[in-house]
Amino acid sequence: MSLLEQLRAALGDGSIEVVDLTAPLSETTPILQLPEPFNNTVPFTLKEISHYDDRGPAWYWNDISTGEHTGTHFDAPVHWITGRDGEDISQVPPGRLIAPAVVIDSTAEVAADPDYLLSVDDVREWERKHGPLPAGGWLLHRTGWDARSRDAEAFLNADESGSHVPGVSAECARWLAEEAPVAGLGTETVGTDAGAAPGFDPPFPCHSYLLGAGKYGLTQLQNLARLPATGAMLIASPLPIIGGSGSPARVLALVER
Ligand code: MN
Repeated sequence: MSLLEQLRAALGDGSIEVVDLTAPLSETTPILQLPEPFNNTVPFTLKEISHYDDRGPAWYWNDISTGEHTGTHFDAPVHWITGRDGEDISQVPPGRLIAPAVVIDSTAEVAADPDYLLSVDDVREWERKHGPLPAGGWLLHRTGWDARSRDAEAFLNADESGSHVPGVSAECARWLAEEAPVAGLGTETVGTDAGAAPGFDPPFPCHSYLLGAGKYGLTQLQNLARLPATGAMLIASPLPIIGGSGSPARVLALVER
């Protein structure tokens, strides 16, 4: 059998499972809320064009309104000022959209402290057990935050002291960008950075360091609990928006059973 025939057979008999890591898109999909004086993105909306009626008797279709950074989405390097000379979303090479993924599980730490930050020591400890991070692949940070993703208030978890959402420390973001072989970071939260990241040095370090290094971000992933620590193959499919800074994406993982 050819390699693709082997893949088809494995998908058919369930020895490779397709796990959907994508949050459903609707008007209630949580979106980032920046404070004044910054501009914000619009909620996802559907506007009906026709629905088997006199506007179009045999067909149903909608216009959509969405931000590039809505729901499960892909951050291109040009999204951040540090990556302004890098790829826009249409320029990300298709060969980089299919890549190995590993999962670091901070669920227990985040249950105890929603402001928990992944550290370089955490990643080193993970590497001692599971081997090196994959070259050209994704580091997916599992936090359990996907359980909140249908409830915007719980998902953004803000109070008068700010947003309490887990993420990655500034030093770990720098290390992932400059020293680790991964092509990108995937998270379960509304952005790749922690809720407190506006106050970090630099602010929003995952965006600043990773996109500045030509690397990528994936956000609002779910079902990471269904992936092994190593061995999954991730398929991310952002729209090739010319000049775009990112795009909602369907993100799938192939997992051997
Ligand atoms: Mn984004």
